[in-house]
Amino acid sequence: KSRQNAITAVTNYTPPSTTLNFADIKPTDLFGCNVFNDKVMKERLPKGIYKSLKKTIEHGEAIDPSIADTVAYAMKEWAMSKGATHYTHVFYPLTGSTAEKHDGFLSPDGKGSAIAEFEGKLLIQGEPDASSFPNGGLRTTFEARGYTAWDVTSPAYILENPNGTFLCIPTAFVSWKGEALDKKTPLLRANQVINTQAQRILKIFGDKSGNRVTSNAGAEQEYFLIDRNFYFARPDLQLAGRTLFGAKPAKGQELDDHYFGAIPRRVLSFMMDAEHELYKLGVPVKTRHNEVAPGQFEIAPVYEHANLATDHNQMLMTILKSIAKKHGMVCLLHEKPFAGINGSGKHLNYSLSCEGHGSLFDPGENPHKNAQFLIFCAAAIRAVHRHSKLLRAVVASASNDHRLGANEAPPAIMSIFLGKHLTEIFQKIQEGNSPTPTSSGFLKVGVDTLPTLPRDAGDRNRTSPFAFTGNRFEFRAVGSNASIAGPQVALNSMFAESLDFIATELENATKGDQSKLNAAVQKVIKDIMDNHSSIIFDGDGYSAEWHKEATEVRGLPNLPTSAEAIPAITAPEVIEMFTKYNVFTKEELESREEIYLDQYNQAIMTEAALVVKIAKTQIFPGAVRYQNELASTCANMKTIGVPFTTDVLEDVTENLRKMQAAVVNLQKIMENNTESEVGKQAHYLCYKALPAMLEVRQYADYLEDVVADDLWSLPSYSEMLFIK
Ligand code: ADP
Ligand code: MG
Repeated sequence: KSRQNAITAVTNYTPPSTTLNFADIKPTDLFGCNVFNDKVMKERLPKGIYKSLKKTIEHGEAIDPSIADTVAYAMKEWAMSKGATHYTHVFYPLTGSTAEKHDGFLSPDGKGSAIAEFEGKLLIQGEPDASSFPNGGLRTTFEARGYTAWDVTSPAYILENPNGTFLCIPTAFVSWKGEALDKKTPLLRANQVINTQAQRILKIFGDKSGNRVTSNAGAEQEYFLIDRNFYFARPDLQLAGRTLFGAKPAKGQELDDHYFGAIPRRVLSFMMDAEHELYKLGVPVKTRHNEVAPGQFEIAPVYEHANLATDHNQMLMTILKSIAKKHGMVCLLHEKPFAGINGSGKHLNYSLSCEGHGSLFDPGENPHKNAQFLIFCAAAIRAVHRHSKLLRAVVASASNDHRLGANEAPPAIMSIFLGKHLTEIFQKIQEGNSPTPTSSGFLKVGVDTLPTLPRDAGDRNRTSPFAFTGNRFEFRAVGSNASIAGPQVALNSMFAESLDFIATELENATKGDQSKLNAAVQKVIKDIMDNHSSIIFDGDGYSAEWHKEATEVRGLPNLPTSAEAIPAITAPEVIEMFTKYNVFTKEELESREEIYLDQYNQAIMTEAALVVKIAKTQIFPGAVRYQNELASTCANMKTIGVPFTTDVLEDVTENLRKMQAAVVNLQKIMENNTESEVGKQAHYLCYKALPAMLEVRQYADYLEDVVADDLWSLPSYSEMLFIK
């Protein structure tokens, strides 16, 4: 009955009474109204303290602890004026989620009353009882303390609940020895590293300002919405985030009518509500639209500094989920909730920028600026080639595996797309310095000779995992459910390593003599092209020919599954890079590898258990009832002497038997899942359990198309995807 009840409930849905009206509160007034932002700080802090705090925020300078008490007091007063009773250090553990532990402002005064307190030391450091968060062996129980440390560069904010509000303080989460236990700490470290190395390049090109180089991110978030009633009738969606069963619907995304249609009214209402909340939190959401799959949508903000963009993306995911509930729906962030139709990603638009330059991936107005731009692009070519395995590893998860390489998402083989024009320029520069140029018209990097560079990359290649899009790179392999911190830590460190290499080459070649710069740039680009151009690919990343060429001719790594990809986190060249720039210690990397493999294993074990349970308790009983109906009809017909074919009965019986056998097989495989080493277990689960689960599904999905509709208890794909 659960499915029928769900359908009835969906049919009777009444929208929540909302009172949002952007005519009453102007969006410009709403934006950031719950954020302890620059305007609030300026109003509420003494001038000297405001200035000191600003320095820390803008230049990444160390915080002066003596100002903490004053800042804490101002924050508390502001928060209480907005109805806050509690504060929390918000942190980002390796689960990928957002964690909080609340403490009240109130303290008893010893005379039967209470006073509101918030001291500087509580602002700067917290000690959540967070011993159950994954630490990969970095904390044993006797030293289980983890500390949260205020991240001054991401502003505090107020979260609202119908019954009150509380102050949220973004923090880093570290062990008592200072080892990173979270996603934020390494990102803050990597942001510093990219600044140092990129500045060296700018200096070589004559910029002595010392202006900070920041990395920026704009994360396009895709998601599915389904009615809550269907969700609760699907144990697989509830516990695994994706459907483990479900026959292909008669109509899928073939017609693209959803993509090009108007946003459904109920969904639009949800979007406006979510955006309203996000505006208050200062998240600059900008774009909303339908996505390719039915029931799939996208929301994209304007890009921001890496750290802020990352915190904002976490908030965005939380808000999408909670506001969906209010509208009777569930927001699915899983990368592949439904087989056979598109999955969800989170295209990470990545750039480096510097005051006075704009994006460093933006071709300039003159040849001198263009040479600098080419150097940053050359760094990208070198970085992606050297660390393509790492790039694959940082997007690896059990859920994203179902999406990558599924002919709708970027392949698991990493490559870089530069566009035809830019690729040609690099090739010509390469030839310009070669003794036997292979095509005419080779280029020399020089003030007179470098042509104007394309401001637009030309065609957009949608099949590339890492594409140049005019003034930034778009990393498309990131999963919809993942934190964008990991990919950015990798990108910043990889770019820093290559910029470091290039800067050293250029410094040695010029020794400060600007007249030698052109030749030095020419040489370094040629060298990079000679050694790394096999990573450049402008063709169809989905094609079988590319897979063959990439792996067999170009020797590019293909890590199809997380079981293979995650261990790349501790490959020798990766450890060398991260430790050289103090982004991770070897121990931190090892702990992460262990945690991510363990998460992968847990995800598959949960799914396997669900497959067995749903097959036995929902699919089998429904199919058996139908079998019984058919059998008794057969028997009845026989007694009255009317012929009745038994095809369907035999078909159902046959597939039930096969499904039963597949379930038994899967159970055996799970009983033998005894490998104690996480990496080996990941391989076992990946190559033994996943195929066995698919086999069960194959028979179950077949039965769904045969068994009487009223006996099928799981909501179907078409119900979940098309009923709004
Ligand atoms: P599309 O779907 O065509 O790629 P969207 O408008 O959906 O474009 O998303 C583009 C994203 O890229 C936005 O988040 C935008 O802010 C971001 N972006 C634009 N310019 C830059 C840049 N220089 N650096 C980083 N992100 C950028
Ligand atoms: Mg988009």
